[in-house]
Amino acid sequence: MFNNLTERLESAFKNLKGEARINDLNIANTLKDIRRALIDADVNYKIAKEFTDKVKEKATGSKVINAISPGQLMVKIVQDELTELMGGEEAQFNITGNPAIILIAGLQGSGKTTFSGKLANYLKTKKGKSPLLVAADIYRPAAIDQLMVLGEQIGVDVYSERENKDAVAIAQNAIKEAKSKNKNVIIIDTAGRLAVDEVMMTEVANIKDAVKPQEILFVVDSMTGQDAVNTAKAFNERLDFSGVVLTKLDGDTRGGAALSIKYTVEKPIKFVSSGEKLDTLDVFYPDRMAQRILGMGDITSLVEKAQSQFDEEQAKKLEKKIRKNQFDFQDFLEQLQQIKKMGNLKDLMGMIPGMGKAIKDVDISDDAFKGVEAMISSMTPYERANPDSITPSRRQRIAKGCGKEMADVNAFMKQFDQMRQMMKMMNKMPMGKMPGMRR
Ligand code: GDP
Repeated sequence: MFNNLTERLESAFKNLKGEARINDLNIANTLKDIRRALIDADVNYKIAKEFTDKVKEKATGSKVINAISPGQLMVKIVQDELTELMGGEEAQFNITGNPAIILIAGLQGSGKTTFSGKLANYLKTKKGKSPLLVAADIYRPAAIDQLMVLGEQIGVDVYSERENKDAVAIAQNAIKEAKSKNKNVIIIDTAGRLAVDEVMMTEVANIKDAVKPQEILFVVDSMTGQDAVNTAKAFNERLDFSGVVLTKLDGDTRGGAALSIKYTVEKPIKFVSSGEKLDTLDVFYPDRMAQRILGMGDITSLVEKAQSQFDEEQAKKLEKKIRKNQFDFQDFLEQLQQIKKMGNLKDLMGMIPGMGKAIKDVDISDDAFKGVEAMISSMTPYERANPDSITPSRRQRIAKGCGKEMADVNAFMKQFDQMRQMMKMMNKMPMGKMPGMRR
């Protein structure tokens, strides 16, 4: 995410490396580079200029603190300003009301339907709500089918009326349906067009007037940069929406949309979505996004993701096995599966400070573990539980069973053995003295 911008900002800060103090010249060079980096990330010129003006004001006004270098000081100022530019605080999401009504609007292809499914899943699994999805696209029967499929996948009911050509009536009927079925949130997925279009706008505005939603979320494809910002403006003028959803952050996004939208429409980004998996919806935190843009990773989100997937019973069992030097292939396989449940691998790695840059050109797909999984699957239950039992002839059979070379199996065995050695070593150490661990 935003790799190019991250790199450019890092190189801008290099202007200050080795400088003992901030002065007019080194500030000017750094700011010029920051401004160019923002413009190349598709941030509007005016926003970029105002941004660097603010940074300049803070940098020249700040006292020199002995403990902090000019470079570090500048990074901190830029970090604060980026956070501010993206909205400062985390925005609230209003799901009070029974049912709470959430209207989803945006262009066709922006990711509205996928987002509706993700939001329903999020509200169901994370907020204990009972959602109803509503297909209010009266033009494309395929859109109704798509929502039905998503609803099925996440176990959420979908309301539709295939013959009805009145989107307002469908939305009103859906509210009645929700009340009769005890659904406490309804998510209305509206029709989109390829470009801003008067008929579409009027239709969504009419639904808004009729159902008075608690939230109107404008969904926008972050890959479209400045166009995204212009579309947001047009929708906001008509709908006065309550929040923005940025989709497709997993793609090769430059960052312009994320950085300019809040400034332009004065509405917060409430969610971001990266990937088509239905459990990858994220609440938007401006401070965490600023950290990621500056290549500092996002450990908070990583830990939260891990915690939400964490099976405490399983974790305790695992800890016991590690303590007793009984970690085996079955445990290893289960760990891989836990990691995969956390979401897109590259996205996860990007949350580790410095890692995003290191792996930017590496192709890490969710299939990365497939080979290892195949090898473990070729083992018998006995072999999985007794790693030491795997003789060369067994290795040969395992390699054949999963279509790998003997050398692959050998390499994996060696790695696994090293990992177990490491665990053994850690077990021998008194608590609190483990390498790399802080108490
Ligand atoms: P709609 O026309 O606005 O309802 O858009 P859809 O939900 O049908 O999405 C359009 C296309 O973008 C589909 O192929 C989706 O699978 C894809 N898509 C949606 N959200 C994301 C996302 O966050 N990341 C990626 N990579 N693709 C997405």
